[in-house]
Amino acid sequence: MSTASEIFDRVKNEKRKFLLETEAKTVCAEYSIPVTRFKLAKSKADAVKFANEIGYPIVLKIVSPDIIHKSDVGGVIVGLKSAKDVQKSYKQIMQNVKRHNAKAKIVGVLIQEMAPSSTEVIVGAIKDPQFGPAIMFGLGGIFVEVLKDVTFRVAPITEQEAREMITEVRAYPLLKGYRNQPPADIDAIVKILLNASKLVMEHQEIKELDLNPIMVYEKGAKTVDARIILE
Ligand code: ADP
Ligand code: MG
Repeated sequence: MSTASEIFDRVKNEKRKFLLETEAKTVCAEYSIPVTRFKLAKSKADAVKFANEIGYPIVLKIVSPDIIHKSDVGGVIVGLKSAKDVQKSYKQIMQNVKRHNAKAKIVGVLIQEMAPSSTEVIVGAIKDPQFGPAIMFGLGGIFVEVLKDVTFRVAPITEQEAREMITEVRAYPLLKGYRNQPPADIDAIVKILLNASKLVMEHQEIKELDLNPIMVYEKGAKTVDARIILE
């Protein structure tokens, strides 16, 4: 397994602008940001073998340096329950991607643990030419896309700032729990914010970090998709 620094060097040497999801999640794991278990399959047989190892339900995703938005090209299939499903979807993903972009270089197919759905949050970072990296927090889906209910702090952030970020978004009451929805693990989000801050401070070549979505549970959290774009 490569270290974060080795991954950043390789991506720069290959003149790529963004990390593959496998690379981005390996970097996150090095910074103790929890991610879904994954393995990169290079063949259909590998795909089935890895799915059996990880356990069902499974998610398949295309891994290509030419595809940054995977679901836009039919490159994400979730909720696979058997080896047969995996075989069928492996073929389907390859077909979808070829149809959208025949020239895309395919590195493989990511076999991934399916995170149970829960409250979704987003942790991100954007590098400002003047102020350097800033950390972003918000709740997922419509809260960020429609309501723009997000908050920022210049990195590095303190634990107190991380806690303020979480409580100051308008959607915060949803994290405290409602009806039969249990409260979300705020400490787990705080840790992710602090670790994301550490990551972007130690790797100034990062232009954009996007952990979206992160499923937050009563205990713990899991990053489902990680994007890292370089300067
Ligand atoms: P994209 O490159 O299109 O952003 P994602 O990896 O975010 O691709 O996958 C698209 C959507 O599929 C996610 O927003 C999430 O809702 C769902 N998804 C992806 N991976 C998982 C997973 N491991 N567990 C549960 N849901 C997932
Ligand atoms: Mg995504």
